[in-house]
Amino acid sequence: MNQFNRTAMKFIGAHVSAAGGVENAPLNAQKIGATAFALFTKNQRQWEAPALTPKSIDTFKANCQKFGYTPAQILPHDSYLINLGNPDKAALEKSRNAFFDEMMRCQQLGLDRLNFHPGSHLNQITEEESLLLIAESINMALERTQGVTAVIENTSGQGSNLGYTFEQIQYIIEHIDDKTRVGVCIDTCHAFTAGYDISTPEAFEKTFSLFDKVIGFKYLKGIHLNDTKKALRSRVDRHENLGDGILGLEPFRLIMADPRFNGIPLILETPDESRWAAEIMMLKKFANAL
Ligand SMILES: [Zn+2]
Ligand SMILES: [Zn+2]
Repeated sequence: MNQFNRTAMKFIGAHVSAAGGVENAPLNAQKIGATAFALFTKNQRQWEAPALTPKSIDTFKANCQKFGYTPAQILPHDSYLINLGNPDKAALEKSRNAFFDEMMRCQQLGLDRLNFHPGSHLNQITEEESLLLIAESINMALERTQGVTAVIENTSGQGSNLGYTFEQIQYIIEHIDDKTRVGVCIDTCHAFTAGYDISTPEAFEKTFSLFDKVIGFKYLKGIHLNDTKKALRSRVDRHENLGDGILGLEPFRLIMADPRFNGIPLILETPDESRWAAEIMMLKKFANAL
């Protein structure tokens, strides 16, 4: 296979700014040489947001088309306020409404997936009870929307956050009615700090064969590419730029050389945005290195 095709199979980008409107995200992605991008479709620190205007939606679609971004290259992320496993009834209701709104926004934008953190039990109910609330929340949103897959992100397991083991994610998926519309995003920093070593070729293979066994690669709808400031099993979530943290460059080389990660958005969430263009260029080189 020629070099162009190899790079084309890997969609590489970053979580870019959508300041001034979602239509600016594809422009910001294009500027850094990205072939994929992530975005928030509303202010991620506020519950309420004005609806997307028809003009904003049309311009977003036009900009994506202009720069060649298809839905398989775009991984929207929901608000950090949402907790789909919240034990408090009123708070859960608020989260469920906000999540439905986020799914609707993706649907309006013609996008096919929404990445979110599963939720937290807040030390008030058991992990299993909270996981069941999360599954119920996802089912409710899927029932009221069309064409958008709910993409569960693995977490570091900081505080009472769930989704730090493959088994927990599998347990949620098991309780989803429409399994064609549920997926998984693996964050490399979260996986490592939750206890899944990926820092050497052997550890990487072991972790991802376990992932395949417990969850299955068919559910993989995105990857977050982050190095980590914190140690294996620390259960602390602190992203680092690639090569500057404990993971080093090896896992990113391995991902770029591995066809199991083809055709899905591979997204940087590293802290120093000024380095994204260089990180993307480096990853593209890794993808061509075989
Ligand atoms: Zn996330
Ligand atoms: Zn992430």
